[in-house]
Amino acid sequence: MKVDWLIIGAGYSSCVLAERIATQLAQRVLIVERRDHIGGNAYDFYNEHGILVHKYGPHIFHTKSKKAWDYLSRFTEWRHYYHHVLGVVEGKKVPIPFNLNSLYALFPPHYAQKLENLLLEHFGFGVKVPILKLRESASGDLEFLANYIYENVFLHYTIKQWELKPEQLDRGVTGRVPVYISRDNRYFQDRYQAMPKHGYTEMFRRMLNHPNIKVLLNTDYREIINDIKFNRIICTAPIDTFFDYMYGELPYRSLRFQFDTLDREYYQEVGTVNYPNDYDITRITEQKYLSGQTLPKTTLVMEYPQAYVPGKNDPYYPIPREENRELLALYLKEVDNLNGTVIFVGRLAEYKYYDMDQAVIRALGVFEKEIANCI
Ligand SMILES: Cc1cc2nc3c(=O)[nH]c(=O)nc-3n(C[C@H](O)[C@H](O)[C@H](O)COP(=O)(O)OP(=O)(O)OC[C@H]3O[C@@H](n4cnc5c(N)ncnc54)[C@H](O)[C@@H]3O)c2cc1C
Repeated sequence: MKVDWLIIGAGYSSCVLAERIATQLAQRVLIVERRDHIGGNAYDFYNEHGILVHKYGPHIFHTKSKKAWDYLSRFTEWRHYYHHVLGVVEGKKVPIPFNLNSLYALFPPHYAQKLENLLLEHFGFGVKVPILKLRESASGDLEFLANYIYENVFLHYTIKQWELKPEQLDRGVTGRVPVYISRDNRYFQDRYQAMPKHGYTEMFRRMLNHPNIKVLLNTDYREIINDIKFNRIICTAPIDTFFDYMYGELPYRSLRFQFDTLDREYYQEVGTVNYPNDYDITRITEQKYLSGQTLPKTTLVMEYPQAYVPGKNDPYYPIPREENRELLALYLKEVDNLNGTVIFVGRLAEYKYYDMDQAVIRALGVFEKEIANCI
């Protein structure tokens, strides 16, 4: 078999690049995916109860980028959806990100009012303050509040999720869910927030539906790479795998997902409920909130964080720490030695957390700068 491009993996990064190369350059692409489906971690399917389920954990699409939104809108219609999250703190369910409404859900009204006034004086309305910054800059009652939120919302959740304390990770990790000085209970504030009307998998299917694109599932690229003729490779698989772990394994966190279907219409008040302090799970997501389906039963997914063990479970979250960046730098030097014959794109190949929209923007950028311009 002879193709122009061999693409390893069939997730977001791969589907965007395959679609661009096939339609804009009229070149032939073979995608090789080790799983039995396309879509990578965003893969979804209808379970035996007809409920649309995200196999690798809840994926909510949100972006500020018109470019990412317009691009994906060619392959899907959307169902507008604002994700809401509650966190269980001292037995009460409070809005997450922690905001002014969360104060009133936890403290007596006069004290909540006092804390609200202090937050407004210090930071102003509409400002997002990372918890570590709040802890550094607070004194008096605000210091109490900062420590309370740190202890009850962040500390134990982070330890469960990462087996590390917030301070042991890059600041960006806890900064992703800041304290929000606002009354907006939505989990995201991005301009575009929606779910693909017929699911992510259907959107990917449409992206790959082109005569220049072939997909080989259930195949690790290492099994076939010597049997296929190609000009260039795009790798969206883990970068350390590609170099046969010559400098050792890059560490990841993994998750175990447990799905339960209940014989009732709804289980919880919102899409996701976080359990920062109790149980071994971090959160429960009720899939029907995401799909908007009206059905008599409901499917929940519970997430149990765990260590990543190659060959046993999947690598989900690159662990953003200095020592891991140093290891990554060794692999990136090897990439330079390949003189552009292999392009590394995506969260596993770049060892970098990308949201779905960021993965799309990155892949479109790679296509424009490193592929279309160089042909
Ligand atoms: C639990 C969880 C929840 C998330 N929730 C959200 C969310 O709500 N909103 C959001 O915007 N983003 C979310 N994300 C991020 C989203 O999943 C990523 O942005 C997206 O999957 C990145 O796509 P990718 O193509 O870079 O990687 P992937 O989707 O990981 O695709 C890489 C593909 O390569 C394949 N592969 C690996 N090794 C090999 C090999 N040796 N041979 C062949 N194939 C191989 C893999 O099987 C995989 O299919 C979440 C991620 C996780 C893990």
